Amino acid sequence: MFVDIAKIKIKAGDGGNGAVAFHREKYVAAGGPDGGDGGRGGNIVFKVNDNLATLADFRYKRNYKAPNGEPGQTGRRSGRRGEDLIIEVPRGTVIREIQSGKVMADMSDDYEFIAAKGGRGGWGNAHFATPTRQAPRFSKPGVPGEEWEVSLELKLLADVGLLGFPNVGKSTLISVVSQAKPIIADYHFTTLTPVLGVVSMGEGNSFVMADIPGLIEGASDGIGLGHEFLRHVERCRLLVHIIDAAGSEGRDPIEDFNTINAELVKFNPDMKDLPQIVVGNKIDLATDEQLEKLEKYFTERGYQYFTMCAPIVEGTQEVINAVAAKLATLPPIKKYEKEEIPAEFFEKNSSGKFTITVEDDMYFVEGEWLLKILQRTDLDDYESLQYFQRVLQSSGIIDALEEKGIQEGDTVVIYDLEFDFVP
Ligand code: GDP
Ligand code: MG
Repeated sequence: MFVDIAKIKIKAGDGGNGAVAFHREKYVAAGGPDGGDGGRGGNIVFKVNDNLATLADFRYKRNYKAPNGEPGQTGRRSGRRGEDLIIEVPRGTVIREIQSGKVMADMSDDYEFIAAKGGRGGWGNAHFATPTRQAPRFSKPGVPGEEWEVSLELKLLADVGLLGFPNVGKSTLISVVSQAKPIIADYHFTTLTPVLGVVSMGEGNSFVMADIPGLIEGASDGIGLGHEFLRHVERCRLLVHIIDAAGSEGRDPIEDFNTINAELVKFNPDMKDLPQIVVGNKIDLATDEQLEKLEKYFTERGYQYFTMCAPIVEGTQEVINAVAAKLATLPPIKKYEKEEIPAEFFEKNSSGKFTITVEDDMYFVEGEWLLKILQRTDLDDYESLQYFQRVLQSSGIIDALEEKGIQEGDTVVIYDLEFDFVP
């Protein structure tokens, strides 16, 4: 079965805790603090593997967790870092954060995408020694790794998508113009998985054509096949819409054409603007009257219209030439831009709970939602930082710190963020 959508949970490794330890040596009465830092947790990294064609692997394995960092050791030794967990996906997979629906990455290119960052290791007590605090008995816990629920959606990377009802001759066309070998048969829905074919125009000029399963009426409402596959033509730069010119099996090619376009727009209104070239196939079976009617209908409506008899390669080269000429005028294959997940989103979805623990004039603030916001905050960016400060104010954290007796100059520690308190 062809799987082109999946939902998974990913969790980066937590940072290891910092160690609390004191130097021990014979004849040395009170050794200094020497607890090492915790190791960083492993990241969750996505990567394209061109040998994968579907998301089937994700149907049975839904949870992915990278290893945690190890805790710090005595003698100022750091804990070992957790290894990254690499998740391989087929090219064209779009990764979205589920709750907000925002695009995290479009895996169309060859870069690695860190979807969840491992938590930083906590500092060991050796880090906290100061002239006035010579024997700190505390260390920092490791920062939890990022955690997301994401959807993976395969949207094929093809320049041209073939549209048309089952049996009109889509698979036949792709088989005669490319090396692709789809199944061709005179029963419906023989194409169960999209087939990509590279159409070579000579001299290094080529384009990719996608044969997708036949669309049926009601497809965009999720009835039967079709709906699922419409996403594969979303990225296409051009559609070739094939009709059965002979109206075999009692079909009305004009009605078919309009039905499919209605489905397309219902699925994604933007697809109305996707250019289409119309091709009447099976002209060997059509009457002159049928052919004239179709030609008139489509040309009057401003379409480029061609006819062919695909199995005997009649008229197919003209179609391919027209496709190549049109593609030369069109923008490249659509890439999905990364969308920011607004920090407000986590605030809204949060319980708003937090805890404060105090150690030696250091105030440790923790809360799952706060961590999510912090992980999304660019601490080098003034506006982001301002926003984070407003969150501290509005969530009641500042008030709670004051209730605990925080004084100007005391240190506030929120996971990796550390700052001096200013009332
Ligand atoms: P698809 O479902 O749109 O992919 O259609 P196929 O390419 O699988 O073709 C369906 C059936 O129509 C097959 O039996 C083909 O051999 C036949 N066919 C395709 N093109 C033509 C044509 O131009 N003339 C005739 N007579 N049959 C055709
Ligand atoms: Mg087919």
